[in-house]
Amino acid sequence: MANPELYTPEIKRRAIRLAQEHRQNFLARLHAEFGENDTDVSSEVAFVKERFAQTSSLTCEYVFVRDNQRLRLAEVLASDPLFYPIETKNSGAFYNKSLDAVFVFRNQEMPLEAESFMTRRKFVHELAHSIKLEDSDVKFKGEDFNPYDALVKVNKENNIIFVNVTQPRMGLRLVGGWGAFFEEAKAEYIATAWAKDQLTQGRFSGIFRQIYGPDFDPRLTDQLSLRANIPEIGSFSVPLPYLMIDNRGGLNLSVSTYPLMGLEILCERDPEMLPYFFAAANGDLESLREFPKRVDRLLGKGAYGYLQKRSKDEELKTNFKRGLTYIVKALGEEVNDIN
Ligand SMILES: [Zn+2]
Repeated sequence: MANPELYTPEIKRRAIRLAQEHRQNFLARLHAEFGENDTDVSSEVAFVKERFAQTSSLTCEYVFVRDNQRLRLAEVLASDPLFYPIETKNSGAFYNKSLDAVFVFRNQEMPLEAESFMTRRKFVHELAHSIKLEDSDVKFKGEDFNPYDALVKVNKENNIIFVNVTQPRMGLRLVGGWGAFFEEAKAEYIATAWAKDQLTQGRFSGIFRQIYGPDFDPRLTDQLSLRANIPEIGSFSVPLPYLMIDNRGGLNLSVSTYPLMGLEILCERDPEMLPYFFAAANGDLESLREFPKRVDRLLGKGAYGYLQKRSKDEELKTNFKRGLTYIVKALGEEVNDIN
């Protein structure tokens, strides 16, 4: 940590400048080595902006990486002292908070249309994690807004010896590269909304015709589903827009489906909850207070805190399932099929 006496505004400004330059150079290097520049995601960005983030900023960078380069990417990210490394081995995509960049792995072995669908779906999910306040809404300790708060270490001569940057994201909690329970629910809610939108417009139906046969009708997506089961609460069906296509062309649940289902069950009980939820995710202070209160009112005191801790200390999938189980049991419900 910086010695506060040495942490002068001058040093802070210099540190921010250095951090910004460093970020730009590092991203340029990543784009040059990994960038798949033919991925146009402007319509996905527009979808998220229009539907979920009108008052927020979506200014992160995107890097699309070939699947067979994931180890190399992990190496390069780990080589930089400013941007904490992320486990890339099993992930399909991730948002790096300190770099403010979304990384999506493109799987060249999947059929083209399925690969495009999954790349975009994963991109939308990660982009949702990057939602932050518009620059104009924030003042950085009296100075003009700067997206980088900086942790600075200086020596006795006031020379900067280390800078660490953090992106002041607003809204729900993101722990390292993973969202806590409700942050994951948010990102997956938005990704699912995008998938629903695509399917109802008849896009990507070729993939699903291959899976469901030539009579596949995208308007019936809610009836097409996968059975899932959690022993403690029973089995339930999960409709098509919630599902992921795996490398072999089969359908699968994402780990984030569980928090999303939890959120939807809560919103069924308290229909006013969803507007508060998205306002909180966009950094509205009143809603950041109101949403946890409403969760606790439905589930019992301390429930929100319990759920938000379902992200780090256990294996993620077990953890999110446990969060969903907790909600279903606290409400004394049977788990219902999602509609
Ligand atoms: Zn996520």
